[in-house]
Amino acid sequence: MKKTVRDVDVDGKKVIVRCDFNVPLDGEGRITDETRIVGALPTIVYLLDHGAAVILLSHLGRPKDGADPKYSLKPVADALAARLGRPVWFRSAPAVIDDAVRAEAASLKSGEAMLLENTRFRKEETANDPVFSKDLASLADLFVNDAFGSAHRAHASTAGIAAYLPAVSGFLIEKEVKFLGETLQNPARPFVAVLGGAKVADKIKVIERLLDKADALLIGGGMAYTFLKARGYEIGATIQDETGIGLAASLMERAKEKGFELLQPIDVKAGRTFDNDTESACYDSDAIPADWMGLDIGPKTAALFAERIRGAATVLWNGPMGVFEMPNFARGTEVVAEAMAETRGVSIVGGGDSASAVEQFGLADRMSHISTGGGASLEFIEGKVLPGIAVLEDREAE
Ligand code: ADP
Ligand code: MG
Repeated sequence: MKKTVRDVDVDGKKVIVRCDFNVPLDGEGRITDETRIVGALPTIVYLLDHGAAVILLSHLGRPKDGADPKYSLKPVADALAARLGRPVWFRSAPAVIDDAVRAEAASLKSGEAMLLENTRFRKEETANDPVFSKDLASLADLFVNDAFGSAHRAHASTAGIAAYLPAVSGFLIEKEVKFLGETLQNPARPFVAVLGGAKVADKIKVIERLLDKADALLIGGGMAYTFLKARGYEIGATIQDETGIGLAASLMERAKEKGFELLQPIDVKAGRTFDNDTESACYDSDAIPADWMGLDIGPKTAALFAERIRGAATVLWNGPMGVFEMPNFARGTEVVAEAMAETRGVSIVGGGDSASAVEQFGLADRMSHISTGGGASLEFIEGKVLPGIAVLEDREAE
């Protein structure tokens, strides 16, 4: 377990909080979705209410040549001030830190907040430069990381800074570590994993880890056809993944040796072309016509997967069951999401597209946990050590 803001005394301290304010902006620089700002509030409010002065850090987008006003965090400072109902000091310093920023940080009082400019305005950020890390650290007494979506990157503001300050997690990272980390370490059983998405190669390490950790693996989405093809089935014009075929074959071999249940679609919903309004029909997996493409799991498969999900004590789901962006091929993904919502077990969703599918179906608040990390979630599930989490202090064993 990692220490959190609750485990340290923050009263009268200056606290740097690395947030994920990487929000979507429209052409005029307006924020189109404040979910990430709202998500950051609990940690910020906790610190302010407990007497800390809070200095916020984040990146936004991928500015190419240093300071670029298009990627300024100014709109975030305004949105944050409105949500907090108190001022958030902000200065669009191209160097992120300058004398005015230092002076403001030095005079910042308990219960006050400031936001620094986009950390990626400095190339030293992604280079994890120790001088920049130390300069950031010099503003505060404590580092709090709450940017899970950036925790898989060893950058100055996510990892480097922790070399110069005590470091603990905020509430968002605490929840990710609890659900993804501890569930995978010690899951309530039976532990069923559901995997989909486009390609086997994207998820190969995830599959391998889950073969070790889970009790059963249900495979849908585009990657399922690679398994079907490896078994010698015709998959017609479905998304092709030539390099994945060998991988799928060896994964099936390993599963067989271990007596591990690796479930694949028994039927599919196919279309003539990659288009929502194309002619569509359901086929058994061994009877997909040569010129059709599989775009969703079929109703028999969806029912089978749903039954297994409802009977699980822990379910981890990553990757849509079909091309859910097209309403006519979203049903398989929706049935899986509904079963996750209904299960009495722990239900965890990881992966950007899976999370947006769950949102789209209006089932988000019925999951135990939806990981917000995208790439970071996948690396965590793979069992990789995330640099932004590794630098946080461990709690003493109880
Ligand atoms: P996540 O972001 O949840 O990790 P992925 O990015 O791996 O998921 O996969 C999501 C994508 O996979 C979606 O855009 C979806 O349309 C696509 N997909 C799922 N099934 C198929 C299929 N049968 N054919 C083509 N694409 C598919
Ligand atoms: Mg994705």
